[in-house]
Amino acid sequence: MDKKQGSISINTENIFPIIKKWLYSEKDIFIREIVSNASDAINKLKKLESVGEAEVPDCEWRIDVVLDEENRTISVTDNGIGMTADEVEKYINQIAFSGAKDFIEKYNGKTDDAQIIGHFGLGFYSAFMVSDKVEIDSLSYVAGSEAVHWESESGMDFSIAPSEKTGRGTTVTLHIAEDSSEYLDRFKLEDTLRKYFSFLNVKLYFSYPEEKKEDKEDSSSENNEEAGSAENQEIIDEKPEETGLKSVVINEKEPLWLKNPSDCTEDEYKEFYHKVFRDYNDPLFWIHLNVDYPFNLKGILYFPKIEKENFIEGQIKIYYNQVFVADNIKEILPDFLMLLKGTIDCPDLPLNVSRSFLQNDGYVNKISAHITKKVADKLNGMFKTDRENYNKYWDDISPFIKFGCIRDEKFYEKIKDSLIYKLTNDEYVSAEEYGKKYSPEGADKTVIYYTDNPVWQSQYISMLKEAGIDAAVMDFNMIDVNFMSFIEYKSEGKIKFDRVDANISDKVKGETSNDISESIKNVLEGAFRKVANNDKLTVTSEPIKSEMPAFILLSEQGRRMQEFAKMYGDKFAGMGLGGDDVKLVLNSTNPAVLKLSSLPADDTATDEEKQERELICEQIYGLAMLAHRPMEKDELTKFLENSAKLLNRL
Ligand code: ADP
Repeated sequence: MDKKQGSISINTENIFPIIKKWLYSEKDIFIREIVSNASDAINKLKKLESVGEAEVPDCEWRIDVVLDEENRTISVTDNGIGMTADEVEKYINQIAFSGAKDFIEKYNGKTDDAQIIGHFGLGFYSAFMVSDKVEIDSLSYVAGSEAVHWESESGMDFSIAPSEKTGRGTTVTLHIAEDSSEYLDRFKLEDTLRKYFSFLNVKLYFSYPEEKKEDKEDSSSENNEEAGSAENQEIIDEKPEETGLKSVVINEKEPLWLKNPSDCTEDEYKEFYHKVFRDYNDPLFWIHLNVDYPFNLKGILYFPKIEKENFIEGQIKIYYNQVFVADNIKEILPDFLMLLKGTIDCPDLPLNVSRSFLQNDGYVNKISAHITKKVADKLNGMFKTDRENYNKYWDDISPFIKFGCIRDEKFYEKIKDSLIYKLTNDEYVSAEEYGKKYSPEGADKTVIYYTDNPVWQSQYISMLKEAGIDAAVMDFNMIDVNFMSFIEYKSEGKIKFDRVDANISDKVKGETSNDISESIKNVLEGAFRKVANNDKLTVTSEPIKSEMPAFILLSEQGRRMQEFAKMYGDKFAGMGLGGDDVKLVLNSTNPAVLKLSSLPADDTATDEEKQERELICEQIYGLAMLAHRPMEKDELTKFLENSAKLLNRL
């Protein structure tokens, strides 16, 4: 072979500085590209062998990444198809370059758009992001081939010459540039390899110089978190006395998602979860995705046990033929599924494009819709056939399901009959079941009574319980507030949520009617308005099955407005609870109320009787308040004083 030098015909002089700049934030991808090429080279040769077009002596198919800190090199060696000099000329000098050229042509002038960087596979040339010199030594599988050496310092000028390489395959040697020295750190490099290639389908070895004795002491394992714990690392001594290298295998046992779901055991799913997500809790359950048509998609989605404080922390790892691409690519997964943990392998993804393009790809939308459907199917299946577990998991999975309903109408439509509510008696029921149990026969809608604070609202809850009704327990958080409005809207009024202190007087009514006359009621209304400092307060009286003399009801609508205003701050200030949204319901069977109503009307009452009325009103109102919300300091002081006064009279 003749020695040859050349220059890649290029009209944009500054192509590499530009690429370097664009890809800087994702420098790691150089290793993904170079090792992926090595794996492709092996798969190509395997393929040729399987169709009888190549004869390959028995061998272990393998890729070796070798770190040489001292000489500042990283080399990647495969025993795949290899290249002849002509092929290097064609594939490296011409084709690989044209990919880079396309990139420049497409994106020149958009250097500020970080989105573009995405997952643009720049292939072989990404090596120049971290190297100031790249060498290739290759020997083609074709019998009688000559080994070839290629090298380039800038990616622009190259030289080709015969190589010393004796074994079949290719070695790419990267001479790491000063500004990329971090890759010479064994932990950093190993982390990066594990990130991308934990599931590669060709055995991947990583070799690094054996630590010298004196280094051993301070080589703490804290850097080694991603690199996996010793127990799941296969460490192989590469006859250290000869090579001075230690080797580890990067790929874990098996990408479980590729296995037939019917062949996977529960333990395998759990073990896989623990390993991949470094979560020692067991997942609640999982969905194994296994699609061949109309696209190829395999994966496992886990429903993690949700920690209240960080339930937004999901992690979906996207793979492309077992090579990791990225976490949580929004375009592939609907955002509510980001709360899950899982692996998704989709070899059909159009990855050689920027993320912004992915978004508009009809194909990507189909994948996303398919995943949503599978999740809904799984949940519906559990609701129907495994209700006990479904109920058990509900608290953990409901934030994600509710969020999903609000975000994705299609998901809601699929899942709506499987939405359930936890009740104060610890039962879990759907809206339909709630209606059957608690709504009067023939009612045209189901009212679901709920509490967002079982402690403060315990008085109301127990009044409802007395009336045979259990309330649903909702969280006072964004999701539940929005979710309830969403369900009311979607059910077109067939389902309504009322907080336990909203509209329950007809539910808690007793049988005996012992009503207070209108004229007395007017007097009392006036007295209570004064006490409450609210001249729009409505006062009614009903016979109530309760020891309490009175309770406060708030209009559901008014209260929600108030909460809304609180949540969104100043913008909606003034939309608070109006005075006429508050109602005081007197229990007309209660002795204190009877006493109150027996006092003469204002114009005939003595001063003493007037004072007594005021004291009883204050106390009744205070008691109703106490059952309704925590008191302010002044209110409490007053209430205690009054209580003492009343006791003193006994
Ligand atoms: P891509 O892999 O997307 O085709 P690359 O720029 O990464 O683009 O590589 C260009 C070409 O160089 C590959 O298609 C392949 O033919 C050849 N090549 C690169 N690395 C190797 C290798 N390790 N063994 C054999 N051929 C390789």
